[in-house]
Amino acid sequence: MRFTVTSRGDETSNTLKKTITNYLTDFGLTENEKEPEIVITVGGDGTLLQAFHHYHERLDDTCFVGIHTGHLGFYADWKASEAEKLVIHIAKTPFQVVEYPLLEVVVRHHNEKKSHRHLAMNECTIKTLEGSLVCNVDIKGEKFETFRGDGLCISTPSGSTAYNKALGGAILHPSLASMQISEMASINNRVYRTVGSPLILPQHHTCLLKPLNEVDMQITIDHTSMVGQHIKSIQCRVAEEKVRFARFRPFPFWKRVKESFVGE
Ligand code: NAP
Repeated sequence: MRFTVTSRGDETSNTLKKTITNYLTDFGLTENEKEPEIVITVGGDGTLLQAFHHYHERLDDTCFVGIHTGHLGFYADWKASEAEKLVIHIAKTPFQVVEYPLLEVVVRHHNEKKSHRHLAMNECTIKTLEGSLVCNVDIKGEKFETFRGDGLCISTPSGSTAYNKALGGAILHPSLASMQISEMASINNRVYRTVGSPLILPQHHTCLLKPLNEVDMQITIDHTSMVGQHIKSIQCRVAEEKVRFARFRPFPFWKRVKESFVGE
């Protein structure tokens, strides 16, 4: 099997990356950074997000598994002390594949015919560089509301424990193919009104954001951020593609939520 190991770049993660690479090579597996069948990330959820984006064009042929060298991760759910156990699993046992839904984001500009498509594993956020974001929110082709406020966050189920959670969004089980829209400080008074609650949309429901003021936007896709000018619309829906994780043992999602946020 072809594998590659990526690291967050700190000393601990780099050392562990070397050890895992040597072990797997000794077991007869082939290191292949270009076309790996399994990507082992060492660091945290951020490291796995980066690896996902690096290999986003070959998601059908790639599985991810993450080791965390910091606090418990959601994607990176193996402890550094379990690395040897994981290596033996990878080398000796066939693994189960678990798929999580992704978010498709299509950005269109007023002055461009071409649209730009992105995939997010956690979320897409839309803010302005200056002043409030004012945009129409269409759901399934119908105007739902005009949003005014700091911004909007559209997250995947597995991203619901990240930025979305900080915004008061619900935690969603990743088996629910859906996306969640949560507000960032919406302006609500007698004149301006938004729903005020996070919305969870099923697969094939589209959310279209149409900015009403001509301001520079900050659009983030997971850890990457871009500045957008003359944005005509940002369309979000559950992507056709999925991210695939290699599972060697059960570690239920709710257990990860409990261990991360509730404690023992
Ligand atoms: P970062 O700012 O260095 O770290 C953000 C934190 O979010 C890290 O502790 C990371 O875990 C954790 N995280 C990432 N994905 C998660 C998930 N699905 N569930 C629970 N926690 C998660 O940025 P980064 O490491 O490049 O990650 C980018 C992500 O940061 C974005 O996708 C966004 O979700 C999140 N973010 C959160 C807030 C907020 O909560 N207010 C604000 C901005 C961005 P590790 O330490 O294990 O890497």
